[in-house]
Amino acid sequence: RAKSAGRDRCAVFDEAMREQAVRILDLEADLRRAINGDGFVAFYQPIVRLSDRSVIGHEALLRWRHERRGLLVPSDFIGLGEDSGLIEEVDWLLYAQVMKQLALGGEGYVSVNVSPRHFRAADFADRLLRMIDEAGADPHRLRIEITEGALLDDVPRALRMLRTLRGHGVLAQLDDFGTGFSALSYLHRFPIECLKIDQSFVAGLVGETRPESVAVVRAIQALAGTLGIHTIGEGVENDAQLAALRELGCAYGQGYLFGHPAEAYSTPLRQAVSR
Ligand code: C2E
Ligand code: MG
Ligand code: MG
Ligand code: MG
Repeated sequence: RAKSAGRDRCAVFDEAMREQAVRILDLEADLRRAINGDGFVAFYQPIVRLSDRSVIGHEALLRWRHERRGLLVPSDFIGLGEDSGLIEEVDWLLYAQVMKQLALGGEGYVSVNVSPRHFRAADFADRLLRMIDEAGADPHRLRIEITEGALLDDVPRALRMLRTLRGHGVLAQLDDFGTGFSALSYLHRFPIECLKIDQSFVAGLVGETRPESVAVVRAIQALAGTLGIHTIGEGVENDAQLAALRELGCAYGQGYLFGHPAEAYSTPLRQAVSR
């Protein structure tokens, strides 16, 4: 009995693995198709000044409108895109949409995410600048979001890249800050506009769950103060987190409390854009 149950379990396991493999292959084929179609769209989430909730910019977030599976978020497919090298192509599609949006006018900046592997491409900065130029977008209204890892695996190259971009008006912000190895001694060398405090720390500011988050955010604020740059709290979901962030000296935030990612710009940028 035990033996046959084991065999059954094994059969079930094999079947599940087969199905997963098929699903991944399916999705990869879909991904290739979507890249050639119009399956990818930019959603925009507001970034606000915490003191008065005024919108200072938006982060562009990738969404995939899948014909059968509905609206997919990056975690549903980004691993796949990275494994197959397709994510860079998807990124360029998204950046092109953002450029068009910027070229329409409006105010505030739009930040786009750059995966570490993509940032490592030798022609990244040149290609981005060319795209901005061709779209007729204002480079001062575009920002890139990169993670610490992307800076540290080739410091001289990252420095060159960021200086080139900044020289043309494109600023950089460090995403998910506090989750990487935070090589603090290096940070002052990079032209970084702001640090985005990872949402895990914002979540841990309130309640008993992660008391060390307060210490982490305090340390990030001290660091930002030393560097003379500002911070953005990510994933702000309630008033208690908002109050805690302000108390700790964080001036900007992003999160469901202020607005979910949405397909169009929220006010006041939408008015400017649809004119
Ligand atoms: P991220 O850059 O840290 O983006 C913030 C994520 O937090 C977004 O998830 C956003 O929807 C979510 N978020 C915003 N406010 C809240 C909140 O109040 N509570 C909670 N729980 N979550 C909140 P999303 O859109 O699923 O993106 C996940 C990650 O995928 C992003 O993290 C970014 O690393 C990556 N990503 C997104 N768009 C792109 C893209 O165009 N290219 C690349 N390479 N990566 C992207
Ligand atoms: Mg980001
Ligand atoms: Mg982030
Ligand atoms: Mg994050």
